Amino acid sequence: MIGITATVPVEIIFAAGMRPVDINNIFITSDNPSRLVSQAEAAGFSHNTCSWIKGIYSTVIARDIKEIIAVTGGDCSNTIPLAELLARNGIRIYTFHYPHDRDREGLWSQMDKLRKALGADWHDIKEVKSRLDRVRGKLKRLDYLTWREDVVSGLENHLFLVTASDFNGDPNRFENELDLFLADAEKRTPFDQKIRLGYLGVPPIFGRFYEFIESVGGRVVFNEVQRQFSMPFECDDIVNQYLEYTYPYDMAGRLRDIEQAVTQRRLHGLIHYTQTFCYRQIYDIILRQEARIPILTLEGDRPGLIDGRTCLRIETFVEMLKERQSPAI
Ligand code: SF4
Repeated sequence: MIGITATVPVEIIFAAGMRPVDINNIFITSDNPSRLVSQAEAAGFSHNTCSWIKGIYSTVIARDIKEIIAVTGGDCSNTIPLAELLARNGIRIYTFHYPHDRDREGLWSQMDKLRKALGADWHDIKEVKSRLDRVRGKLKRLDYLTWREDVVSGLENHLFLVTASDFNGDPNRFENELDLFLADAEKRTPFDQKIRLGYLGVPPIFGRFYEFIESVGGRVVFNEVQRQFSMPFECDDIVNQYLEYTYPYDMAGRLRDIEQAVTQRRLHGLIHYTQTFCYRQIYDIILRQEARIPILTLEGDRPGLIDGRTCLRIETFVEMLKERQSPAI
């Protein structure tokens, strides 16, 4: 088992005979993620460090993860000192760095460095890529059923796509679960929420978020970053695949992706989730400058159920969008 702090080329990990575990996913789905945040604070993390970083730290210690790949470029600058701290706890650290300028050679060199460090060869990596491409194709189908057929909820879309960062460590099992889900979803009656929303930014830290949106008549039909994790790009070349992935690079790629989704998925509004103490909050300024449909910015701090104030803001936003659409809907 090898922990990952963010999406990395998992094909390399599987080809090396290892099992990737996205530490973010096991932190947030643990019995008590809030306690993990508190444990990190007890170990010395300051209040104004992002909860995801604190959660990653405590999860690595609690789950006794011995090796991790720390994404030190293209994800979060906090990961750099976090990795150094974990190394002092005896954890073996590999680093992976997405070049901010999307330089192909730079990315290839990072992938090759990781390949050598884990002991994989390119032939096996290509075979794993073909295997995962099949699963990625099914995730693309799930996404299509979300926005085109309206038979997959925002939460279901989120859960399956976000899991593509590590395929739950077992692509065969994940694919079986996905097949069962798709077979069931294809038979459903379409949902009737009229307001179609796009969710932008890192995955939400609070629970019952998607369910609440649906309870007031909206539905998320585009999970921007989670969809990026699923890499629905159909690239033959693995380096191109990770160059297409928008999240680690500048905002231009993300903006193009969002713009395309607004048109194709007929979105009425956008929700930009920002994490307290995250440098990515600054991107909210750019998103607000560029958005051509209404956008609501939310902020979450610690794990837990969605709070009343956020609920009220979402409800007001959805009501405003309904009025804008009326009498068309
Ligand atoms: S939410 Fe922001 S600060 Fe927190 S881990 Fe992610 S990128 Fe880093």
